Amino acid sequence: MISGFIFLFGLVIGSFLNVVIDRLPHGENIIWKPSHCDFCKKHLRWFELVPVISFLFQGGLCRRCHARLSWQYPMMEVVTGIGFVLLSRQFDVASVMFLAAIFVYSLFLVIFVIDLKHQIIPDSMLLLLLFVFIIVGIAFPTPDRFLHVVAGLGAGAFFFLLWLITRGKGLGFGDVKLVVLIGLFLGYPGTVFALYIAFLTGAIAGVILMITKHAKMKSRIAFGPFLLLGTLSAYVWGDSMWRWWMGLFI
Ligand SMILES: [Zn+2]
Repeated sequence: MISGFIFLFGLVIGSFLNVVIDRLPHGENIIWKPSHCDFCKKHLRWFELVPVISFLFQGGLCRRCHARLSWQYPMMEVVTGIGFVLLSRQFDVASVMFLAAIFVYSLFLVIFVIDLKHQIIPDSMLLLLLFVFIIVGIAFPTPDRFLHVVAGLGAGAFFFLLWLITRGKGLGFGDVKLVVLIGLFLGYPGTVFALYIAFLTGAIAGVILMITKHAKMKSRIAFGPFLLLGTLSAYVWGDSMWRWWMGLFI
C-alpha cells in the first residue's frame, strides 16, 4: 500500500525531473513555463501530463503533430518510482534521511541524463548535492565523516591530475567536481570501488562503441554516467564486494 503510494509519488517527481533535464541545459525557466510539445510547441493539457499513462495512451506520439516522443519520459518516471520504493525499504519514510536520499537520487538521475545527452554537468545540480551532503553530514555525523572528506578531496585531486594530463580531452572539469561529491558521499573504500567500476564500464563501453564504429578514438563519451553507475554499484554492493576483493589478497 505505502509502496504503491511512494511509486506514484516517484512517477510524479520523475515527470518533473524530465522537465529539469529538458530545460536546464538551455537555461529555460523550469517552474514558470507551461509544458509543451518540443516539436509543435502545443501546450499540453493536464491529461497529457499523467506520468507513463499519457505516453502509453498516445502510443508515444504527440496528440496534435504526431511526433514521436522520447522514451526518456516514461523511462525516467519509472526509474524514479522504482528507486524511491527501494530507498523507502532502507530509510524510514517519515525521516529526514529518506527525504535526503530521494533528493540525492533525483539529482544523480538528472546529472546522468544531462551528461549523457549534452556532455555537461550543471553546476547548479552539483551545488545542490554539496548542500545536501553538508547538511546531512552536520545533522547526522558518522564516526568516519573525516574519511568521507578525505575520499572526496583525494578522488578530486586524482581526477584533477587526469584532467591536466589529458588536457580536458579525456575528462571534463565537471567530472572532476562530480568525483569530489561522490567521494564525500561514499567515503572509503566505497569511492575506490565506484571509480574502479566507472573506469571498467567506461572502457568496455568505449571498446564496444569503437567496434560498432559509433565512435572514433578521439570522440568524447560522457564519463559522468559511468561515474554514477559506479556510485550506485558501490552504494548497493560496495561493502560485500570490498570484503570479497580483500579476501583474494589476504
Ligand atoms: Zn506536437
